[in-house]
Amino acid sequence: TQYDEMGKPIFLAGIVFDITQKKEMQLELENKNRILAEMSSMDGLTQISNHRTVVEFLNAKINESHYDEKALSIAMFDIDNFKKVNDTKGHVFGDKILVDVARIIRDSIRDTDLVGRYGGEEFLVVFPNTDTFIAKEIAERIRNNIYLNEFEEHQKITVSGGVAQYEQGADVDFIDRADQKLYLAKQRGKNQVVSEVSE
Ligand code: GH3
Ligand code: MG
Ligand code: MG
Repeated sequence: TQYDEMGKPIFLAGIVFDITQKKEMQLELENKNRILAEMSSMDGLTQISNHRTVVEFLNAKINESHYDEKALSIAMFDIDNFKKVNDTKGHVFGDKILVDVARIIRDSIRDTDLVGRYGGEEFLVVFPNTDTFIAKEIAERIRNNIYLNEFEEHQKITVSGGVAQYEQGADVDFIDRADQKLYLAKQRGKNQVVSEVSE
């Protein structure tokens, strides 16, 4: 500010920044980052958790179970004869079946459970605070919901499942134990769930 001889202000200089645009850009960037983070935790096709997310969730629950000593169970599902579906109806049709199966599993479990696409046509479900008896029941419900579902073009789809309960210090990896039960379910004719208690 410049003043005249009488001390009255005659000139005032300053710079005013418009920060609105900068703030908007920053918010937009934050939003994009959030969407990106969400995208990379989800499976692009089925819109359920991806392999990394469900395994991270399982590891977190394993750690929790070490101090709260609550039961923890998992189920591994694999679509039966899925190669044949792809071979006869095409990959695009197969992809739609995968989306539907993922949705049915997600709609069959509780909010505290988590399902992820573990591999191509394999799904891993984590059941916190749940023993193998209850997990077997829920897995059986999932299997039945898929069995009863009306898929496109009246395609019949079944899944096999293996259920295991976490055991501290078990020789075999937790997921491998569920996989072994899944293998038994396939051997015994598919469209069934095998758990440690049902053997
Ligand atoms: P099984 O009952 O023993 O599980 O037989 P299967 O035919 O389901 O098993 P296999 O492992 O021989 O084949 C799995 C098939 O899953 C082969 C592959 O083309 C299909 N698949 C895996 N990922 C995708 C995918 O993202 N989209 C589609 N359309 N098919 C997939
Ligand atoms: Mg498979
Ligand atoms: Mg299969």
